Amino acid sequence: MAVQWVLVCHGLVTLVVVISFLCGQWPIFQGTPIQRIHHFLTYGAYDYFLRFIGVVFGTKGTNAILSIEYFCCDRPNPILQLIYLGILGGTYYFIAKSSFSYIPGYYLSGIHRYTSLVAVAVGVLLFFLTSFSDPGTIKAENVSQYLSAYPYDNIIYSEKECSTCKIPKPARSKHCSICNRCVARFDHHCGWMNNCIGERNNRFFMAFLLWHFLICIYGSVALGFVLAGRVKELRVVHILTVYYGIEKDFKSLAPHVVQWLLGAYNTQILLMVFLAIVSLLLAGFFSYHAKLCLTNTTTNETFKWQEYISWQKKLQEAKASAEALKASISEMSSEKKPSQSKWKAFFRRSPLEEVEIVTKNNVYDRGFFHNLCEIIFPFSTRSSFSQTKLKNG
Ligand SMILES: [Zn+2]
Ligand SMILES: [Zn+2]
Repeated sequence: MAVQWVLVCHGLVTLVVVISFLCGQWPIFQGTPIQRIHHFLTYGAYDYFLRFIGVVFGTKGTNAILSIEYFCCDRPNPILQLIYLGILGGTYYFIAKSSFSYIPGYYLSGIHRYTSLVAVAVGVLLFFLTSFSDPGTIKAENVSQYLSAYPYDNIIYSEKECSTCKIPKPARSKHCSICNRCVARFDHHCGWMNNCIGERNNRFFMAFLLWHFLICIYGSVALGFVLAGRVKELRVVHILTVYYGIEKDFKSLAPHVVQWLLGAYNTQILLMVFLAIVSLLLAGFFSYHAKLCLTNTTTNETFKWQEYISWQKKLQEAKASAEALKASISEMSSEKKPSQSKWKAFFRRSPLEEVEIVTKNNVYDRGFFHNLCEIIFPFSTRSSFSQTKLKNG
């Protein structure tokens, strides 16, 4: 019984930590312990650690830690890539070691020994494609094509030059400070891929997320079938009902079967829980990015729109309060027909209430089908893209 509770607690703690770390800043978690754990994990713990190092080792110690941080977070490096390969290889190794001896089993045919390997190999291939492909680097040679592919919307993008690359900055592009280059249709710099996600490799990134979601589900379900097969092959239900006299209905049998599984196959159960949690996170991440792709927005642009909207709101509020001030001054100075203006003033809406709602006006959104095509066949891979320069002269 004790093992059971340790496993349940382990699963719950893992779930809370993972959710807090990845989703703690979401508005629904504001003011909850999840947000506080997120703050501690992403900032607080590191801050305490830095202070501790400062107290024990002095400035030299703090500087050493800060330079390690600079190397890990602000420079291109393969640390997270190696962690990804370690997690994938480790999970596959533990599944193979713990469960391949039961394949073929009652519910799974022998083919899953090979399909699982193919599934992982495709995952690694997509990882390498995303990591080592060109995200759409803007150079002097292709800048004119990118400039005509993405016109300025004059809202969040206007004509500019990259101060580092000294070339015009096409709309939707961004200079990545980690990779030190301008990237077309910049989405974000992905530490796991050690590469930017941009115009040319967004499709591989999306395929990577979707595929990893699917292989996590596949692994989790296959392990479930392995365990169900063990229950069937070892005639656990028969033993429980005949030798232990437990009633032959689901409600009375389930706790005993689960207890037996937790005792005999805890590795497989831990792997199942792990894969289920990862698949949930991947599903969330994939749906977020799928929504961006289908509305033709990027992660970078969602921040830009947020900034633009809050700036516009502030501007309009300032304008409205200036108007309200003007109106009250003119009312105070002109005291003609006080009875009429009093009624008027009563029914008139305050200029402060008339603040227009600023909404996103995404000129790059050209409908579901076009947006999807732009992800699958990026502009720069089309023959029309290379001809643009010739046409322009
Ligand atoms: Zn640049
Ligand atoms: Zn980058």
